[in-house]
Amino acid sequence: MTVIWAETALLPNGWAEAVRVEMAEGRITSVTPGTAPEGQRVGCLLPAGQNLHSHAFQRAMAGMTERRGAGQDSFWTWRTLMYRFLDHLTPEDVQAIAALVQVEMLEAGFAGVSEFHYLHHQPGGAPYADLAEMSARIVAAAAETGIGLTLLPVAYERGGCDGRALTTGQLRFGNAPDRFARLHEAAAKAVATLPDGVIGVAPHSLRAVRPETLAAMPGFGGPVHLHLAEQVAEVEEVQAAYGARPTEWLLAHAPVDARWCLIHTTQMLPAETEALARTGAVAGLCPITEANLGDGIFDGMRWQAAGGVFGVGSDSNIRISQAEELRSYEYSQRLRDRGRAMLATADASNGRVLVESAARGGAQAGGRAAGAIAPGLWADLLALDTGALMLEGRREDAILDAWIFAGDDRLVADLWSAGRHVVQGGRHVARDSIEARYRAVMRRLVGVM
Ligand SMILES: [Zn+2]
Repeated sequence: MTVIWAETALLPNGWAEAVRVEMAEGRITSVTPGTAPEGQRVGCLLPAGQNLHSHAFQRAMAGMTERRGAGQDSFWTWRTLMYRFLDHLTPEDVQAIAALVQVEMLEAGFAGVSEFHYLHHQPGGAPYADLAEMSARIVAAAAETGIGLTLLPVAYERGGCDGRALTTGQLRFGNAPDRFARLHEAAAKAVATLPDGVIGVAPHSLRAVRPETLAAMPGFGGPVHLHLAEQVAEVEEVQAAYGARPTEWLLAHAPVDARWCLIHTTQMLPAETEALARTGAVAGLCPITEANLGDGIFDGMRWQAAGGVFGVGSDSNIRISQAEELRSYEYSQRLRDRGRAMLATADASNGRVLVESAARGGAQAGGRAAGAIAPGLWADLLALDTGALMLEGRREDAILDAWIFAGDDRLVADLWSAGRHVVQGGRHVARDSIEARYRAVMRRLVGVM
């Protein structure tokens, strides 16, 4: 049994002072406000965020695709570079990169991550001796770092809606349905070695899976994640092939509900936004990546008015920062609508709405029993350093507004993931060795690119 005592804590029904939180076997067992200090003392205790969308290996190419190529640079030219990059990655590289990425996520206040994992095979497309070798590497990284992992093996079977074959760059992702089922089963066995691991499934996109394959996805159990409508060209391709826009088509053909998380909901019409919000599915927003790739702006105001659930993900991992991710989302709404305090409600400030959504929406998306400081849930907890300059004189919601809008993730002092105290004094306990291994991988990769 471990006890944390917080000067102030954000509980499901609001702020409380002098809060004692007891945990055992990774779960919160009791929460008691108004107690005398004992155990591990912290300043401001929050439900930790959950990162709902990541492609870990892309972290290693962050900052390598910011030069102007011939003609107009776009998402699609970025993707070509990404394919070239991943042709050099070995299973050892993937584990080293994933471990560093997870360390950075934990230090940013994310206790869990939903890894949308599509790099399955060897360069050229031949499977590894263990079909789920790469999945097992992501799991091994999570065992090293202590992050709460939701692994989403990705189904990918064609190069586009017209059924064209995979390109050379996509051969490492592809599986026919029977092999995908075997891969998923092996990946699930690897995930089961983690005390709090969750296995879900990810049909990559309407472009990359056939309708029959998509229909079989909920049968795998666990969360279902799909790249929905990121780019205009993607919407046009789906419309030409299916006679309907992606969101419109999905809602008519799939049993979308609270188990689903739709990634990149940047290209939706108002009626699609409202209809999707009503299903209870999570909007998987990736504001930093969506800005970096020029995807567009999500209609967050309409989504919120329709009662929609959202969370955030770091996707391409060009930056790993919870504060910046949440701030970017709010600022995108302000810039489009020329307003302020867009997501705030009558009862909660911007920071409060954003932080609670990143925890609750992210936990729902990951199928993880977390997202609030309440008995029975995993002890996914984040402590901000209330002694930090930026938090001086701040109380309750103003603490969160200062963290998200005026500060950054250096205010995250401690983090527990399912009770594992992996960030202490702002630093992951295994950062040094994980960082050294990552540097060695990067030195080699830069040489071959
Ligand atoms: Zn993605």
